[in-house]
Amino acid sequence: MDRRNFLKGASMLSLGALAACNNEKAAPAPAVNVEVNNPDKYFGLQIYTLGNELYAGNLADNFKKLHDMGFKYIELAGYDVNTNTVGGVDFTEFKKQANDAGLEIPSSHVNAPGLFSGVAGRESRDGSDGQFNRSMINKVADSFKKVAEDHAKQGIQYVVHPMMAYLNTEDDVKAFAEMLNKSGEIFKAAGIQFGYHHHNMEFARMVKGVKGFRLPTVLTPLTAADGPMIMDLLMDNTDPANVCYEMDTYWTVMGQQDPVVWLKNRANRIKLMHVKDFVVLGDSGAMNFKNIFEQFYANGNKYLFCEIEDIDSGKQMQRVEASMKFINAQPWVK
Ligand code: MG
Repeated sequence: MDRRNFLKGASMLSLGALAACNNEKAAPAPAVNVEVNNPDKYFGLQIYTLGNELYAGNLADNFKKLHDMGFKYIELAGYDVNTNTVGGVDFTEFKKQANDAGLEIPSSHVNAPGLFSGVAGRESRDGSDGQFNRSMINKVADSFKKVAEDHAKQGIQYVVHPMMAYLNTEDDVKAFAEMLNKSGEIFKAAGIQFGYHHHNMEFARMVKGVKGFRLPTVLTPLTAADGPMIMDLLMDNTDPANVCYEMDTYWTVMGQQDPVVWLKNRANRIKLMHVKDFVVLGDSGAMNFKNIFEQFYANGNKYLFCEIEDIDSGKQMQRVEASMKFINAQPWVK
């Protein structure tokens, strides 16, 4: 194959991946500079998006800004189990300021303290380097007890584990699922629903005889014949009563998967969603959010969190505002 034909082939495969995410016919790229503001939309923000911008100046004022944009609720990142703080602010005080600004807090992202340590909404590895194996199941699950206690006191409904550990074998994946399941039992006893948030790695497959996982690409797709998909192993080895899943639209597409197909096939497992595009919601035209939202609502779910990476850009508050303008202008957002 010469270079020109190779590029042509690659381009067609890329388009195929985008078509997969669009599920049905592609919607035209939406404009974000619309001035429609429907204050009735029930939509949230994962505060990881804002990085330090959330804490610049006055936290209460920044919460008010988010509420004025139209956000009704937030999902936490940056809770510290050792100090019971969020982004360095006392948890009770943080919640009071959010609530006073009209923002509910239904959910919080927390890495298992026995596996990773969390710093101001970012994941940093502890001494274990995130490597997980069967011998760690109970220690890691037990490390969630204090997390459950602190979050129950604040009336948080969901605590979500945001990150996969390093897993080398299919048995490591099953052991990781067992840890999630045990953790879910701890949260359930505290009146909290535990969840798991994926990236693209969970759409990789564990190939027999190969250490670690293999990610599909547009040029090298993988099938069930190559080995089981990590996401299927996690869902099939956890009890729906103990562990729900938070879909991330961007990472699903990066894993060469269609969010709508997963929402249909795993309707009883996916309860929360990170609404994520390449940057500002709606700008890329690559995500058919209409189809995704309609299926998400049809499954009986309600919590949708805007998320944007590149948290040190210095432009996150503007990007969040532009994203909310897009959301407010969509008739299919409830
Ligand atoms: Mg996410």
